[in-house]
Amino acid sequence: MTKPQDEFDAALLANVQPADWQNPRPAARYDLVVLGAGTAGLVSAAGAAGVGAKVALIEGEKLGGDCLNVGCVPSKALLRSAHVAAEVRDAGRFGIRVAERATVDFPEVMRRMRAVRAGISSADSVSRFSGELGVDVFLGHARFSGPAQIEVGDASLNFKRAVIATGARPVAPSIPGLDETGYLTGPESNPKWHPLVNNGKGKLPGMRWNRRGHTNSLIPFFAKGAGAKRYLELADETDPKRGAVIDNTELAKPVFEMMR
Ligand SMILES: Cc1cc2nc3c(=O)[nH]c(=O)nc-3n(C[C@H](O)[C@H](O)[C@H](O)COP(=O)(O)OP(=O)(O)OC[C@H]3O[C@@H](n4cnc5c(N)ncnc54)[C@H](O)[C@@H]3O)c2cc1C
Repeated sequence: MTKPQDEFDAALLANVQPADWQNPRPAARYDLVVLGAGTAGLVSAAGAAGVGAKVALIEGEKLGGDCLNVGCVPSKALLRSAHVAAEVRDAGRFGIRVAERATVDFPEVMRRMRAVRAGISSADSVSRFSGELGVDVFLGHARFSGPAQIEVGDASLNFKRAVIATGARPVAPSIPGLDETGYLTGPESNPKWHPLVNNGKGKLPGMRWNRRGHTNSLIPFFAKGAGAKRYLELADETDPKRGAVIDNTELAKPVFEMMR
């Protein structure tokens, strides 16, 4: 569920998961059925429709997928605020005197993020794809029911070709003790504590919170190496105490306990 369901989230949902949307009557056969309306699915559907194909696009949650709703767009909006906070904090180094110490208004940062996301969401909207691009948009979780047939709700869609663009899910690495320790994979992470495993995209949120000057951030890494080192260098730019490398499950356990 999208929270806190303010006017921006209402605008977002009206674009990418309209509650009153009625799925169309399926065509006899589609040239292309696209399963999943994240970045990959939207581009596939728009491209095929643009060259005249009869296209159906099926989405079980929100059009825009991870990128619009929880990934690229929100993260870059938050990073923008974090960069501003860092610039203001470091302004003295550039000969700029700031009258008062900058503080972070976190609800306002999140409000701006939701406003940016809602503003962009018209590009991924049901109305744009169904109206402007001529794609038959179906909302609902789909399943294949035959080699050339897919079901969504009560509708059966026949197709010549299908694109499966259902995205990716986190997979836990096989680190001994990880299951007992527990771990977070992203959206549910608590801003106060960011355990980062390895040096993939997970480091982005940690950098965001650190840049924003979050006083309680502790960034444990389970993997040493160039990525971890670079992260700690970045963390050290703002506060040398803020980074920590933990590559021992026993050591990490109390950290996870504190996060719960
Ligand atoms: C924090 C974060 C920041 C990121 N920043 C960037 C960035 O700056 N630049 C960048 O290029 N990438 C970034 N990414 C990665 C980017 O979000 C993903 O690469 C992209 O969203 C993948 O798109 P996709 O279409 O493959 O999958 P998804 O976006 O996951 O879309 C798949 C869709 O399929 C739907 N679906 C799945 N199964 C079914 C079903 N059975 N029936 C109907 N629908 C179904 C899902 O509901 C979902 O909407 C970021 C990711 C994260 C998490």
